[in-house]
Amino acid sequence: MSASPLTIDHLLPQSLGGSDDPDNLALACHRCNERRYNFTTGIDPETQLETPLFNPRQQQWAEHFIWTADGLRILGMTPTGRSTCSRLDLNDDFHDDGFIQESRQYWVEVGWHPPRNDPRRSVN
Ligand SMILES: [Zn+2]
Repeated sequence: MSASPLTIDHLLPQSLGGSDDPDNLALACHRCNERRYNFTTGIDPETQLETPLFNPRQQQWAEHFIWTADGLRILGMTPTGRSTCSRLDLNDDFHDDGFIQESRQYWVEVGWHPPRNDPRRSVN
């Protein structure tokens, strides 16, 4: 039996008083949802300051993140982007032995990745 790859994430987690109202929900993959847990902030590795995590309901992805030229790593470009990359370990720097970057490499090879409208650096 396999779990659904997608889950519903509460932007303000229910454990912190968040509701099931659609405005408080976002679709998330299982791994991101687990890693976010009930955190709403992360530490910006550049400043060591606690910073709100990216909110896909209120913020634009392209204002906070950019892909490396090879499409394997997400780079946070703002305090929110950096703290989100770190809290969710979006590049598997601390979990899963880089599994996500290996997966992205396959997706790049078949043209599925990175998403067409996402910003991408010209050099790694
Ligand atoms: Zn995810």
